[in-house]
Amino acid sequence: MIKNFDLTSIRQDFPLLSQEVNGRPLVYLDNAATSQNPQQVMDASQQYYQEYNANIHRGTHYLSQIATQRYEEARQTVANFLKVLPEETIFTSGTTDAINTVARIVTDGGMIQEGDVILLSGLEHHSNIVPWQMAAERVGAQIQVIPVLEDGTLDQATYTSLLSSRVKLVAMVHVSNAFGTINPVKSMIAQARAVGALTLLDGAQSTPHGALDLPELDCDFFAFSGHKVYAPTGIGVLYGKKEVLKDLPPFKGGGEMIKEVTFSHTTYNELPFKYEAGTPNIEGAIALASALDYLTQYDKSEVNAHELALIKRGADAIASISGARLYGPDDRIASLSFSIEGIHHYDLGTLLDQMGVAVRTGHHCCQPLMARYGITGTTRASFAFYNSLEEVDLFASALEKSCAMLR
Ligand code: PMP
Repeated sequence: MIKNFDLTSIRQDFPLLSQEVNGRPLVYLDNAATSQNPQQVMDASQQYYQEYNANIHRGTHYLSQIATQRYEEARQTVANFLKVLPEETIFTSGTTDAINTVARIVTDGGMIQEGDVILLSGLEHHSNIVPWQMAAERVGAQIQVIPVLEDGTLDQATYTSLLSSRVKLVAMVHVSNAFGTINPVKSMIAQARAVGALTLLDGAQSTPHGALDLPELDCDFFAFSGHKVYAPTGIGVLYGKKEVLKDLPPFKGGGEMIKEVTFSHTTYNELPFKYEAGTPNIEGAIALASALDYLTQYDKSEVNAHELALIKRGADAIASISGARLYGPDDRIASLSFSIEGIHHYDLGTLLDQMGVAVRTGHHCCQPLMARYGITGTTRASFAFYNSLEEVDLFASALEKSCAMLR
């Protein structure tokens, strides 16, 4: 574990950050959309292709054995990061893929049936809405929504009143990508469990900030994406509690997920292979493990303290602009989502880009949440631990200049 958070040396690990964009030093504040990869992760990807590229599990030859070993070690690394078992750790192509898998297997497995309720939160990303709508349509279930209060937190009183024995699954975001709201998931999961509902956490935005303790949270399912945790795109993870997954049917059929196939009948492989049909993203899994190793070499409290300092300075800068509205509660994490009266977020994002500052504008794949506030979108600056306070100051002055130009 590296103590004494040294930002200069961390930034040297991320070569992409030290470039100029539009003649200005790049200030990359779109980390909630995708994060950058450290050199160590890119080296792990390259090493796979240069030294041991082979298909896994089925080969008797040397390269296949090495690739298999590294792939399974990667699974163990992810399992350690989440404090769960490797057989509960399934590689997917990302959060979206993981949630779609759960939506399919719990309905195919009869755990959500006609007349049942699927409870979602009003803060959800489309990835945690649409698969449930499709699932509800398939079986005749109903979607209900936990409302969002004006401060961007969930209405806990209404949540409690919505819970009943009809609710078979509660799916919610751990940390909101749109507002940075941290949901009180531990108590919400305990309440869901008390009425017998399964729980799924969308961890796309909570995983980039350090290792988690899923047994403590006690969710049944958890999903996240590699590209938000300093790893490449195309790899992600689905955690599922063993005692839940073992009785659920497979989703995709194909190689690797089987034990024995005849033309009349197929028996399925054990966990986690039952849910990994076909050749997986071997390099992606190895790179993801390398990214988690990279992240967890730093003390989580130091990483989080630095991120908090960034967000505080950014929030102060936004608050100093007249007509600014910052969405979400004060104890938000990593994302500052805001609007400026009289200025369209798209114009603002374009001008910031011209000054080298990369932010995201629009609905952040959360159209129902935007509709809740009567807006079409916001400007979002989202931070990673490799951002510096100097970059926040560059963002602040670019914001001030842009607003002056647009008024
Ligand atoms: N959920 C949340 C909270 C997200 O931020 C994202 C990515 N923006 C997703 C789900 C979807 O992730 P992916 O596109 O990597 O599947």
